[in-house]
Formats: sequence, C-alpha cells, structure tokens
Amino acid sequence: DYVIIYKKDGRLLNINKRARELFSIEEKDIKKLSIYDFLPEKYRRIAKERMEKILKDELPSPSEFLYEIFWKGKKRYVLVNTSRLKYEGDSILISTLKDITELKEKEKELRIMYRNLKSLDFLKSCIINNVSHELKTPITVIKGIVEELYDELEDKEEYRELLIIANRNIKRLLEIIDDLLIIAKLARGDYKAVFDVFHIDTVIEEVINEKKDFIRSKNVEVIKEVESVPIVADKVLIKHALLNLLDNAIKFNKDGGKVFIRAFKEGKSLVLEIEDTGIGISEEKIDRIFEPFYQVDPSMQRKFGGTGIGLAIVKRVVEIHNGKISVVSKVGVGTKFRIEIPLGS
Ligand code: ADP
Repeated sequence: DYVIIYKKDGRLLNINKRARELFSIEEKDIKKLSIYDFLPEKYRRIAKERMEKILKDELPSPSEFLYEIFWKGKKRYVLVNTSRLKYEGDSILISTLKDITELKEKEKELRIMYRNLKSLDFLKSCIINNVSHELKTPITVIKGIVEELYDELEDKEEYRELLIIANRNIKRLLEIIDDLLIIAKLARGDYKAVFDVFHIDTVIEEVINEKKDFIRSKNVEVIKEVESVPIVADKVLIKHALLNLLDNAIKFNKDGGKVFIRAFKEGKSLVLEIEDTGIGISEEKIDRIFEPFYQVDPSMQRKFGGTGIGLAIVKRVVEIHNGKISVVSKVGVGTKFRIEIPLGS
C-alpha cells in the first residue's frame, strides 16, 4: 500500500517509501510539497472536493474512492481510502492507495465467463424445450392410436394386455417430457407462476391417485396424515413437486415398504413431509441430489428409471414459493423430505 499523510491545505506531513517511489519524490522534499503537486492534474479538483467534504463531515471518515488512472500507458485502478484524524489540535488527513488493477481484471474475466455460462445455459434450456415439444406431438398421436385399438380389441384379451403396457410406457414418456419442459421453463425464468387458493389435501389426493398403479406394482403402502390446509400457491407446480417426491419414495422403496405423506400447519407455514422406508441416501451424496441430472447411482437407474431432474424441479418450486426444503436420510432405513411453505405467499 501507498500511504500519504497531509494537512487540510494539502501540505505533506509524511509519505511512505513506496508512495515516494511511485510519485518520484525525494525524502528531503516531503515537507515542501503539497499533494496537489504530484496528483495527476485530472484528479486534483475532485480529490480536493472529496477531502473538503470529509473535513466538513459531509462524507464519512474513512471514505473510499476508486480512481481510474493511466499509468505508463496502461489503465490502472487505484482504490483510495481517506480518513480524518486529529493531530496537535488540528485535523489532518491520511490516505492509503491500493492498486487493485489485477483484481479488477480478474473481475472482468469472471464477468465474461459468467455471461458465457449464462448464454450456454439459455441455449441448453432452449434445446431441451424445443426437443421436448417435438417429442410430444408424435407420442400423443401414438397414445391416441393405442387407446383406439384398446377399444377395438374388446375380445382379444392378450392384445389388450400388450396395449396396457404400451399405454403405461407412453404415460411415462409424457411425464419425462413434461419434466423437461418445466425444468427448461424454470431455468430460463420463463415460467409464470399462477397463485391461487386451494386446499393441500385435494392436491395430495390427486397425486396419490395418479400414482396408484405404480404404488400397487411396487407393493408399497401409502399412509396419509393430511390436514386440509388452505394455501396460496401455484397448484400446478406444487402438484408437480409432490408427484416427483412421491415417485421417488415409491421407486427407491423396499418391496412391501411404506410411504408417509404428511401435511400440517406449523406457525405461519404449511409443512409437507414425504417419508419412505427405502434404500436411503448416504451422507456424502445428500448435498448433491438437488442438482439437475444428478443421480446417486446412475447404474441403478436401469433398475429404477428416472432422469435426475425431479428434485431439481422440486427445489425450484419451493424457491418460487419462498419456502424451504430439507432432507434427512439413513442408508437402508429410509428418507424424509420436508418442505415448508409460507401460507401467505
Ligand atoms: P430421478 O429421476 O433419478 O429420481 P431425482 O432428481 O428425483 O431424479 O433424484 C435424484 C437422485 O436422488 C435419485 O437418482 C436418487 O439417487 C436420489 N433419491 C431421490 N429421492 C430418493 C429417495 N426417496 N430415496 C433414495 N434416494 C433418493
């Protein structure tokens, strides 16, 4: 750092060696000089104004100013910190100068990097969005055909079985596409949340109903401890988040396991809990599960299915509602997700 101590009129009292070298000042000349003798001309007036303001208490002491100066043909950033002190009954000023050019350059680099990353992110969500829309059309057509065939093949039970399987897979595909569409929208900040009043128990009922085939096929028992709490929230998003959490609680459960769904009021918040008796998540992995496309064990996904975006959506949904989400888990015992949503939001 460069340190300069001077009187109210600018006359130097002392200046450290580094600063002397910087301004090419001889030690013997210190007392003869005023700061205005060696400050670059462009900054004399502004420096004087600022100094006077500090002396008159119009600016706090210390105050910090950033100067951009040209030094040996190169732009440099100098941060000046000036304070007022009492010395022999009079006010004097002490300024420390810090060359923060390198820091500023790093900041600029980071800004550029951040902008590039953001546009890449935007591009990614545009691609996801477009591809998902494109996928949706043919799959919806196939869905229609399958449903029609199902009606036509009334007397051919073996074909109807096949069509039920086809239909289940089509439904799953559409769910994945909807997940992708929502995550792309949320990532671009494109999703316009629609806040409405509704009772949480009705949504929970719908969610369980939509998952009833999956619940049966995995032989799990769903236990509801649900109060009918009215909230102001985006119903589509809340439902989507609950669908994802319930889906995981069933998917990662043991055969014959249990899922508890709780909803209750606590203070000014609605608390939602989804607890399972499944495989659990190890402590070192648990912090990462909310990252988009993260899966604790991707090799297991063949067995369980999934894309790794469910929890990323859940997290965004909770954020949009100014809520909080937490998770506790024990490997081999089970996992509990807890969401708190302010009732008024
Ligand atoms: P996925 O589509 O893989 O379910 P999610 O984002 O919903 O993606 O979850 C990310 C990962 O977190 C999952 O792949 C799984 O490893 C882990 N996980 C999520 N919920 C549970 C749960 N209830 N029990 C055990 N592991 C879970």
